[in-house]
Amino acid sequence: MSEKGFAECFVKDGSSFTLEKPAILIVDMLNDFCKEGGSMVLKEGAEVYGPIAALIAAGRARGCPIIYVNDCHRPGKYDREFDKRAPHCIDGTWGAEVVSELAPAEEDYCVKKRRFSGFFQTDLDLILRELGVKTVIVTGVVTNICVRSTCHDAFFLGYNVVVPEDCVRATGPREQASTLWDIATHFGAVSDSGQVIAKF
Ligand code: ZN
Repeated sequence: MSEKGFAECFVKDGSSFTLEKPAILIVDMLNDFCKEGGSMVLKEGAEVYGPIAALIAAGRARGCPIIYVNDCHRPGKYDREFDKRAPHCIDGTWGAEVVSELAPAEEDYCVKKRRFSGFFQTDLDLILRELGVKTVIVTGVVTNICVRSTCHDAFFLGYNVVVPEDCVRATGPREQASTLWDIATHFGAVSDSGQVIAKF
């Protein structure tokens, strides 16, 4: 029997990674989640503006695709997510827009999603395959829900997953720590923006 506990039985260190054909995903950096007056605000979301902006600038300079994955629900229509969560990110409203600090450029991609994962019932996988992407650098909010769901699906679909921990925030410190641990041990690598930028 192994001396190691369940979580320690990984074959590759959870902080080691390479950036084979990378794309940067920016998950849910939207006014409703990040800005005062939003419908479901995570105050700590503002802490990741700087690191994500630096990552985007470095990636863009090297031709790395920048893909925004944005929660977006239809106005006035039933959406099953609202059985569980208060209404948020209604299409066409301020709340559904990317925060001005990280506004997408003309050449960037924007993918609308109606569930937590950026891959579920969207064309994100198709975009990544068309671009020949092998590695997704996943950033945004919140670590333990939409970032996590997106990392799960990315891994299941065969992508390498890298999460810079200074570019994601969870609903609390416990959720941040536990989610990053799970990602590092089961789904990909956890690093920081400086380490990722150094490998571009
Ligand atoms: Zn939603």
